[in-house]
Amino acid sequence: MSDVRLQDTLSGETRPLVPLDGRTVRIYSCGPTVYGPAHIGNFRSFLFADLLVRYLRWRGLEVRWVMNVTDVDDKIIKGAAAAGETIGELSDRYLARFLADADTLRMTRPDVLPRATDHIEEIVTLIQTLLEGEHAYRTDDGSIFFRIASWPSYGRLARLDPDQLRIGERVEADEYAKDDVRDFALWKAPKPDEPSWTTRIGEGRPGWHIECSAMSMAHLGQSFDIHTGGVDLIFPHHEDEIAQSEAATGQPFVRTWLHCAHLRSSGSKMAKSTGNIARVGDLLEAGVSPRALRYALLAVHYRAGLDYSDESLAAAGAALTRLDTLVLALEAYREDRPDDPELQAALEGGRQAFGAALDDDLNISAALGAVFDLVRDLNRRIEARSMSTDDAARALDALRDLDRVLGVLPEGTADGLDDEVQQLLDERAAARTARDWAASDRLRDTLADRGVAVEDTRDGQRWRRIPQVTRG
Ligand SMILES: [Zn+2]
Repeated sequence: MSDVRLQDTLSGETRPLVPLDGRTVRIYSCGPTVYGPAHIGNFRSFLFADLLVRYLRWRGLEVRWVMNVTDVDDKIIKGAAAAGETIGELSDRYLARFLADADTLRMTRPDVLPRATDHIEEIVTLIQTLLEGEHAYRTDDGSIFFRIASWPSYGRLARLDPDQLRIGERVEADEYAKDDVRDFALWKAPKPDEPSWTTRIGEGRPGWHIECSAMSMAHLGQSFDIHTGGVDLIFPHHEDEIAQSEAATGQPFVRTWLHCAHLRSSGSKMAKSTGNIARVGDLLEAGVSPRALRYALLAVHYRAGLDYSDESLAAAGAALTRLDTLVLALEAYREDRPDDPELQAALEGGRQAFGAALDDDLNISAALGAVFDLVRDLNRRIEARSMSTDDAARALDALRDLDRVLGVLPEGTADGLDDEVQQLLDERAAARTARDWAASDRLRDTLADRGVAVEDTRDGQRWRRIPQVTRG
């Protein structure tokens, strides 16, 4: 039992999270289709799942997180043909790129990252069950479709009017004959020059929707706790996942569906100046701080639309600067005095407010509000020199504890400092000890050129990264 409450898209209800097996929260996230570099809209959805996983673990819950990798589909086949590669080569390349971007953005690695092409056997078994249950049928060319007419509750997740069911984009693109225009492909008959597998259900390749049902159930069981994805996946992808999974197993598929709203890009200025801003790799190459990008993508509630712009990135940078400045001040803080009797309550209060906010369907805005209330409080205590040296260490521990969820603080004092910058800082400290103010000022300018601001405090020299949206 936990105090965490989440809003389920299917029922519309906000309910306490209770792991189905009483122990482990099992989470499946629709992952990347690895045919090109990931988009920040994709990463908003992945980082939302990361926040969820980090938060549940911070709350002391055991979590098993699975994120699939789609490594066979029309776009991958097309891309590989254009590049003169196999689909394996193309998807390996873009999977590596995705993981590098994910690491840079400090996304927790899912416990399992299953690939569709490694699960053909599970997919075939599932389709076979659907054929036997007459929820699926074969067309003349050997393709296999799910029969939507066999599943009366189809459309419940997307709240579709059964008479007005549209067919999804990916289904529309299929060129296979089917009984009902709404039916979707589970298995696609082989075409010349396309990869295919020879299996018990014939030769071909899996459709997109079936892979998520097969992989989630293979790694999490027939029923599991949470399924995440972007709102654009509600229909038809998740609708199809529910229909084919429950038709095959007779069990409820997912307890709680969580969908992340769209990322909007209102920053026309940035688009003009940098061209295609949407890719993570391009933004990082242009000098955007990965921590600021992470913060900007996380800082808005997952069910609210997020406007991504230069301004939102700058606001994220400013928020991080306040956090960094406090961390550095606490690290440098030395005061030989008794412990501050009120500090413990302040830290505990901050932690409780943070947790209460996130318990409420991951209300990140309120959680960040609690963090910055604590920041203000600690800044006051530093200013008043009311804490002991040990207090400062306790405050720092408390901040780092909250950051297990947020993942935005600099990692240790030497975060991102190359040897050259470290040497300049050492030289400047030596110059100040020698009272060589001219050298000290010169070194301060040199450091500023390298994006590091230095400040002299009664605790000695302190540095911080100068927040930059773009560099160079
Ligand atoms: Zn999926």
